Amino acid sequence: MASSGTIIQHVSVEPLDIPLMEPFTIATGSVTAARNVLITITLSDGSVGYGECAPFPPSTGESQETALAAAQACAALLQGRDAAHWRTLSKLMKSVYYAQSTVCAGMEIALLDALTRSYGIPLWTFFGGASTSVETDISIPLVAPEHAYQLAQDIVLRGINSIKIKVGSDLREDVERVEAIREAAPGLPITLDANQGYTPSEALLCLEALDDRDIRPLMLEQPVYKEDYEGLRYVTQHSKVPVFADESASSPASVARLIAMGAVHGINIKLMKSGIVEALEIAAICHATNTQLMVGAMIESRLAIAAAAHLVAGLGGFRYVDLDTPMLLAHDPFTGGYEQQGGVYDLSGVKSGLGIERK
Ligand SMILES: [Mg+2]
Repeated sequence: MASSGTIIQHVSVEPLDIPLMEPFTIATGSVTAARNVLITITLSDGSVGYGECAPFPPSTGESQETALAAAQACAALLQGRDAAHWRTLSKLMKSVYYAQSTVCAGMEIALLDALTRSYGIPLWTFFGGASTSVETDISIPLVAPEHAYQLAQDIVLRGINSIKIKVGSDLREDVERVEAIREAAPGLPITLDANQGYTPSEALLCLEALDDRDIRPLMLEQPVYKEDYEGLRYVTQHSKVPVFADESASSPASVARLIAMGAVHGINIKLMKSGIVEALEIAAICHATNTQLMVGAMIESRLAIAAAAHLVAGLGGFRYVDLDTPMLLAHDPFTGGYEQQGGVYDLSGVKSGLGIERK
């Protein structure tokens, strides 16, 4: 039965531009600002939901321009339909805009924010209520070792308890960057992300060089090109460090294949790659196969990061949380969603939906 209060009355689409405090460089590219898209959905009972699309061109193949155009068309598709049928609506959007994954993700976030506001429950409760908080790391991009040392010192002062280090460019400099960070933050656990930058043997060389220096990262993300499943399996089979797929793991089908091949120890789920419905499916596949779970993000504001935090807290079972990008932005257009202390995002104060408001 359609409940008339949850009919989608209006969907608005607008650019969301937020400068970064400093350029963010990874193996596949560099950005100086989040050039995202803001979605606002209003239901017939007056409930308003927000969603964010974060097209990170080197990772998603989308730009702000393509996302705006696709989101406008997607808005017309949703108008007049019932948000309560969110899984059906997700399928409908994906059948048309399958190549615009961040647009589908932003729409799904806005739909579920509006719906759970209408229901009067926080989004983390809707997702299962496993817990009410998550703890994130902070990433250090591809910067010179001296700069990485400073960034790591700042991270320690902020009370963050783990550091993710971008690698996958020049092998020697990668090792020096990791060494500098370990020196600045000797007690902190570290993880590595090569963003497809290595060949399989370079990835193993990097881990060996670190091992020679008594540095054992907790895990290594996406060492090789996303389509190179065999290469990923080679690294996984020869590495003492657990290997996670990120760019390779873009759908439930790709995750099922990676796991069946024995190509990974873990999977990085991102809402911008899969949206919410498929993120739930990927999490279920990983739980059923004892595959470790991580959550990550593109360059997202507090809005999309809150959505990921609600999902992860509600579902439970995520080993690594990399939801630091609001801390990289020069300003924050939103409030709420969570209360932050050090690296901990506490969702227990959210009354309904995402709890996000515009400033
Ligand atoms: Mg990654």
